[in-house]
Amino acid sequence: MLEIKNLSVSYGKHAALRGVDVSVKRGEIVVMLGANGAGKSSLLKACAGLVTAHDDTSINLSGNELTDLPAHKIVEAGLALVPEGRGIFGELTVRENLVLGAFAKRARAAEKQNLERVIDLFPKLAERLDQAARTMSGGEQQMVAIGRALMSNPDILLLDEPSLGLSPIMTGDLFKALAAIRKTGVGVLLVEQNAHQSLAISDRGYLIENGAITGQDTAKALQSDPAVQKAFLGL
Ligand code: ATP
Repeated sequence: MLEIKNLSVSYGKHAALRGVDVSVKRGEIVVMLGANGAGKSSLLKACAGLVTAHDDTSINLSGNELTDLPAHKIVEAGLALVPEGRGIFGELTVRENLVLGAFAKRARAAEKQNLERVIDLFPKLAERLDQAARTMSGGEQQMVAIGRALMSNPDILLLDEPSLGLSPIMTGDLFKALAAIRKTGVGVLLVEQNAHQSLAISDRGYLIENGAITGQDTAKALQSDPAVQKAFLGL
């Protein structure tokens, strides 16, 4: 289980996160809802070791303290990030992008099984393995990015706005894939603007505003909360 306690992040004098507590168990999908600039990306980046948290922060994965570890050791510990904008290598093939994700020691021995698992999850990638990633559609590129993260055999997967720029149909397929990932026992922390579809597949959710958590509940309760409906569901 991922346990984030008292997470604070600053950029110079600007406090992007202030004392945030969040937890994600294996086998659950947790969504983080907040407006632009609320601090959602900073939260995921701090977990992945891409921005530095304040000293009194604790980010713990199944008993291992991740705070202050370099990014590659955090991947080894079992946490993988799919960044906003996907970060795949356009000139490399789909297969090459996926195999890069298996670089972690924890995943090297099982590279073949993990590749099969990714292809089971995203069958569309099977016929595209030798195609340059840049020639894929936005939705397919997102599958490559998620597939690459899964190749590191994570316990917890962090996703930064995976539905951004995708059509409603592609978003539906993407969220179905996340539900299938949950079934394999992976915990998913999802940052999303698409509150409607993300709450529909999530188990729990947090609301984040100006760098602080302002609410948390089951996804079902959040869907029927009038404040959430007004702010995020356009009702
Ligand atoms: P968005 O949905 O727009 O990506 P977000 O909720 O993910 O927003 P963050 O990207 O975490 O928010 O940003 C939180 C705050 O920190 C914002 O005010 C942002 O301008 C600021 N910020 C983020 N990254 C940096 C940086 N590298 N340097 C300075 N300020 C930053």
